[in-house]
Amino acid sequence: MSEVFEEISIPQLNKTYKQPIGLFINNEFVPSSNGEKVDTVNPATGEKITSFYAATAEDTDKAVKAARESYENVWFKTSPAEKRDLLLKLADLIEEEKPLLAALETLDAGKPYHTNAMDDIDQIIHLTRYFAGTTDKFTQGKTIPIDHEKLVYTLKVPYGVAAMIIPWNYPLAMASWKMQGCLAAGNTLVIKPAENTSLSLLYFAQLFEKAGFPKGVVNVVPGKGSVVGNTLGTHMDVDKISFTGSTKVGRSILELSGKSNMKDVTLECGGKSPAVVFEDANLDNAIEKISNGIFYNSGQNCTANSRVYVQEGIFDKFVKQFEEHTKKNWIFGEKNDVFEKDCTVGPVISESQFKTIHEYIKHGKEEEKLEVIETIKDIPSKGYYISPTIFVDVPQDSKLSREEIFGPVVVVSKFKDYKQVIKYANDTNYGLASMVFTKNISVANWFARDIKAGTVWINTSNEEDPTVPFGGFKESGIGRELGETGVETYLQTKTVHLNMSDNI
Ligand code: NAP
Ligand code: MG
Repeated sequence: MSEVFEEISIPQLNKTYKQPIGLFINNEFVPSSNGEKVDTVNPATGEKITSFYAATAEDTDKAVKAARESYENVWFKTSPAEKRDLLLKLADLIEEEKPLLAALETLDAGKPYHTNAMDDIDQIIHLTRYFAGTTDKFTQGKTIPIDHEKLVYTLKVPYGVAAMIIPWNYPLAMASWKMQGCLAAGNTLVIKPAENTSLSLLYFAQLFEKAGFPKGVVNVVPGKGSVVGNTLGTHMDVDKISFTGSTKVGRSILELSGKSNMKDVTLECGGKSPAVVFEDANLDNAIEKISNGIFYNSGQNCTANSRVYVQEGIFDKFVKQFEEHTKKNWIFGEKNDVFEKDCTVGPVISESQFKTIHEYIKHGKEEEKLEVIETIKDIPSKGYYISPTIFVDVPQDSKLSREEIFGPVVVVSKFKDYKQVIKYANDTNYGLASMVFTKNISVANWFARDIKAGTVWINTSNEEDPTVPFGGFKESGIGRELGETGVETYLQTKTVHLNMSDNI
């Protein structure tokens, strides 16, 4: 029997733990059918951590069958109250395992342990308890009186088997945004983590089993996007697919659904979110929030405020203060270790992202000859570290103003008045998020009205809560996650017409 667990040590925590490296199907870890494995790397060192089994199309099909069987025979018949209790138990287990779960995010995704990874797990605990409370609330239908002899009622029913594909920037959080709402709505699921960050979700899978979730309700199939993702997208027995990742792959998921069984599709894709700072704004607040909105998680945020528009009268002052703030707050640890208490800047996810981001920086400097501030000069020689980088006075048609870089790179540009800046802000194919900083209530609300984006932050940036709907306009996505919509998105309406006449 092939080994489906491996001992991994985390010296910084003085800890060794048992990492599952198999596929999680029917509450068991199993090797892939062809024995193929994928390596995963620690982005802080560039060194291999371990390798895990990569599911084949056949394995993925097995996972879908397990989810189907479990849906029809068990989960469909499980009461909302039982589902609630299972999710509450899951939340307790996540809380118990918080230090290790956070450590796995740090190890495999390079997230600063104390200032980033721990926050993710806190959010997941809150989210899990929130969704536990929805099983008997957001699943209720309506009664619609038509006339004396006709009554219609609606049922909110789960799709059945849902598939999920997630990215690497918030591995467990992105999984939890989908899984917990999906389970609360009453679906079973098959989820594919990103190749770069599969370890935490494999470990997490065990907690569902420990909490008492019946076999087949949750299945985790790590592997290649082109194999597992494609199989899920085209599968005739997957009823719903929810994807978070790039707009390019999101588009192809939509096509795969159209070419197969028209499964319902939710997409959370890319962004190039604008932050607009008016002259009357509280500058300290704007700078703190904008800095966090771009440099947290090394800029690998779909809602990162990667375009900043500053009104011309305060432009120079803003840039100077922004530079100072960034230099002071976004730092590597003393020993360049992401496990250190004060470390706020981790590496980017992979060598290929590292190269892509550097190409953008090089382009800005050499091709467009833009003014640039790189706030950390002393970059570690190992790992995929990039300095927080500020490009100054960048034109609207610059490649850097238009394309999603997905790294710690921000462009700061000038504007004259509301009319001009709302045009700039909306001049993009994306529409995920937006921020406005002003004390003028009218301007703030004009912006909220006029901006074409799924989220508007007024005098703040990148604040989220499990109770609040999240999603994008335009090519940033389709559908919403979290809040009531995080359950609704996994339910469909069934309409029942009741004939109450006395001649039947
Ligand atoms: P990506 O390349 O689109 O990958 C996302 C997921 O899709 C991964 O699990 C990937 O698997 C899988 N995948 C790749 N090719 C596929 C295919 N042909 N068919 C089906 N699945 C496939 O995105 P990424 O580069 O990892 O993540 C960064 C992007 O995600 C950014 O554009 C960012 O804005 C977006 N994002 C959006 C949100 C949001 O909520 N809106 C949140 C986070 C990230 P592999 O790992 O095997 O390649
Ligand atoms: Mg990794």
